[in-house]
Parts: sequence; structure tokens; C-alpha cells
Amino acid sequence: MFVDSHCHLDFPDLAAREDAVLAAMAANRVSHALCVSVKLEDFPRVLALAERHANLFASVGVHPDSDDVEEPDETRLGTLADHPKVVAIGETGLDYHWQKDAPEWQRARFRTHIRAARACGKPLIVHTRSAAADTLRLMREEDAAGAGGVMHCFTETREVAEAALDLGFYISFSGIVTFRNATDLKAVAQYVPLDRLLIETDAPYLAPVPHRGKTNEPAWVVHVAEEIARLRNEPLDRIAAATTENFFRLFRHARRS
Ligand SMILES: [Zn+2]
Ligand SMILES: [Zn+2]
Repeated sequence: MFVDSHCHLDFPDLAAREDAVLAAMAANRVSHALCVSVKLEDFPRVLALAERHANLFASVGVHPDSDDVEEPDETRLGTLADHPKVVAIGETGLDYHWQKDAPEWQRARFRTHIRAARACGKPLIVHTRSAAADTLRLMREEDAAGAGGVMHCFTETREVAEAALDLGFYISFSGIVTFRNATDLKAVAQYVPLDRLLIETDAPYLAPVPHRGKTNEPAWVVHVAEEIARLRNEPLDRIAAATTENFFRLFRHARRS
């Protein structure tokens, strides 16, 4: 069995096909998926998915790209996270790719999420893009290690992976690792210890080869696992078992169903 550790089933393309998406997961041995929140306004729909389906979980958080949205504080995040199907805080982090002026509000929001995660005892889902040094700095300053978590959709260097691993974090690979030109990332996927690896789709984005360019869905996380198995010269079943174990170890509030 495989677990998709990060997807957005509340986004319109996937929400409109909810039953088909769940059926495709079952047909592809994808047993569970974590539906990740990007703004509080949409959180009720994310949580509703997790309440409707025993094998879906939810997170609560505000993405660093979401501006003009309700700004969370620690109390609000903690209150929303106090639900048995909410297993993580995020996605949160820094993204200087779209916000080229590296705004202070992103860093303040990230700090709020780290504090909330530590306070409520649920792990962090960290998004970082073109901001690795600041991301790691804030994680150290706010003691993100005390909350634990995952660097999701990892696209950074081996050195960044090493620093995140030193903080006790897991590294999650998306369909990007299947792209032919992702040479450096493939090397990182060979390097990360097996007991710290996660797999994800980030659906509806980043469909893996051979579905590149289409609307991604959790069923296709299998292609991410296949590529990692190939790169590490390990049986697919071993990657499946390890990433599933890792998921339930990290997201310890997630109940297997
Ligand atoms: Zn992200
Ligand atoms: Zn995402």
C-alpha cells in the first residue's frame, strides 16, 4: 500500500471528481492521503473531505503564497487543529519565487505556524521555494525540531536536505523526481535515509511521468514511488512499506483504517 502524504483534493478539478479520485486510489493500492490546507477560508472543505472518508486526513494552515486571506494566529490554528482528523499544521513556510521582495509577513506567518505546531503537538508541513536559507534559519530560531515535520515537495540541494534531517524532519518527494531533467533531485532521493522518506503528489499539480501536464491525483503517487525504487535500486514494495510506516510515524494522530 502507498500513502499520498500531500494533496489538495478540495481544489475544484479534484473536488468535482471526488468519487472517481477515491476509486482510482483504491484501484492503485493508495490506501490513504493527507489533504493539505492552504488558507483558513477553505479549511472547512478540507476537513469535510477527511470527515467523509476514513482514509483521508486533513491539515490546517495558510500557504506562504496566500495573500489577501485571513491571517492565522497561534490560538486560531490550535483551535482548528483540535480535531481527530487534523494530523498536521501547514502547509506553511517561505516562498520567495512568487513574492520576490521576500516579505516580512511571510516570515511572521511561518513563525506563527511553528509555534502553533509546538503548542498543539502536531507536526509541520513545510513549503520552501527560493528561500532555503531563511526557511532553515526560522526553523532553528523557533525550534521547529520540537514539533517535527516534513519538507514537502522537496526540490532543494542535498545540503538543505541534510540540514532538515538534522532537525529531525522528513523529506517528501513529488512527481518532480520523475522528470528527466531533475538530475540533482534524483541524487537527493538516493541519499535520504529510508526511514525519513515520504512520497506525495501535491495534486492537482506536478503530475509525474507518464502523466506529466495532466491534472494530478493521489493514485499517481505510485509513479513517484516507482522512480524512487529505481533510483535506490530497491524493490517497490520496500519503498511502499517504508514510506507508509514513515507517514504513520510522523503523523502520529492519523489512524489507519
Ligand atoms: Zn507547497
Ligand atoms: Zn501543496
